[in-house]
Amino acid sequence: MNRIPRIVILGAGYGGVVTAIRLQKQLNYNEADVTLVNKHDYHYITTHLHMPAAGTDKPENARVDILRLIDEFKVDFVKSTVVQIKPHDRKVILEDSTLSYDYLVIGLGGEPETFGIPGLKDNALSIRSINSVRHIREHIEYQFAKFKQEPHRKDYLTFVVGGAGFTGIEFVGELADRMPKLCKEFDVDPSIVQIINVEAAPTALPGFDSELVEYAVNVLKEKGVTFKIATAIKECRQDSVLLATGEEIKTGTIVWTGGIRGNRLLEEAGFETSRGRVIVDEYLRTKEYDNVYVLGDCSIVLNEEGKPYPPTAQISIQQAETCSHNLVATIRNTPLKSFKFHNKGVVASLGRGEAIGVVGKYKIKGFTAAKMKRLVDIRYLFIIGGIPLVLRKGRL
Ligand SMILES: Cc1cc2nc3c(=O)[nH]c(=O)nc-3n(C[C@H](O)[C@H](O)[C@H](O)COP(=O)(O)OP(=O)(O)OC[C@H]3O[C@@H](n4cnc5c(N)ncnc54)[C@H](O)[C@@H]3O)c2cc1C
Repeated sequence: MNRIPRIVILGAGYGGVVTAIRLQKQLNYNEADVTLVNKHDYHYITTHLHMPAAGTDKPENARVDILRLIDEFKVDFVKSTVVQIKPHDRKVILEDSTLSYDYLVIGLGGEPETFGIPGLKDNALSIRSINSVRHIREHIEYQFAKFKQEPHRKDYLTFVVGGAGFTGIEFVGELADRMPKLCKEFDVDPSIVQIINVEAAPTALPGFDSELVEYAVNVLKEKGVTFKIATAIKECRQDSVLLATGEEIKTGTIVWTGGIRGNRLLEEAGFETSRGRVIVDEYLRTKEYDNVYVLGDCSIVLNEEGKPYPPTAQISIQQAETCSHNLVATIRNTPLKSFKFHNKGVVASLGRGEAIGVVGKYKIKGFTAAKMKRLVDIRYLFIIGGIPLVLRKGRL
């Protein structure tokens, strides 16, 4: 290849934006043309979205303008939506143009996985983007306003959250914190409000330390959350949720957090996928094309036992570091690096001042864990935007 190689990065989430930032640092002048494509002109801090969704923080605090993160002399930013990936032709079709590439990085994130539950796609809300959390926040307030018009409709103030994994637990913690303020604002008796968290697995936070799970569930119950564990959602209707036990919960709000799948564009492009996610090789490339890297929620990396690591921001960032190294190595004809996930720990917030986590061999809970959660958020801001971004957004 005599001309300058073209690298196109799809998606400015955790995987995409960190890849772009790393490439702009590592590549020399004229070593490659790098283009970052994203449907919005901002990057959103997904791990913070449960707060604006519940209305305990502003959506603005969970977003950062992409042009503040990248150096436009080194990375071209294209605000557009990807509509098709054509790996055979080395082309990406955007809503308004076409891009050609030599190397492609796909970090388009995930979509809610509905597991075929009837009505879920049409009737449930999901915490996926700034726009979706604006919708959830407005919807919750609207339910209070509607209840004031029709006080016999207590179902308007029943909020059902499907899934008690990380996102579900973090969201119900915030929702429970928001309720007293909303009740005061709308002159509603707080005893009318119900927050019900439904989970099909035998425990909340499946896979997490059982002592910490018990702590989390007790904290959330104290805040007024009702749990229905080991209970599958059978159907999601416009005004109710039908459980496998036969119980029907009348509700005006269903927020689904029960699972994610990879972006549909990957299976449409012909990559071999499992629930829309591509099992990548040790260098994070697809098995079909060694010039296509897949990161984050679109990818599957297997652990030593052959099981997929859960999709997290943490793994996406680490993949981006390996991916940028490997792109530079390919261009310079130097050895590639295998991806190895280093689990630095996990912390789940339970609302204001409460969290649980495992960091190294230590279990943490309560205020200490809540502080740790803040530190994790600040560390991420530092990774993408250095001290200036920490100073601007570090209130997270
Ligand atoms: C509420 C919540 C809390 C979470 N908490 C944690 C946590 O505490 N710790 C943790 O490690 N993980 C957490 N996660 C998971 C974590 O956020 C994801 O694993 C991570 O965001 C995945 O990063 P990604 O780069 O794959 O995709 P994303 O961050 O989802 O980014 C995808 C990007 O692609 C863009 N895009 C999508 N489709 C198109 C298209 N067609 N055209 C152009 N652009 C497109 C999107 O706009 C977005 O910018 C949480 C997730 C949620 C929802």
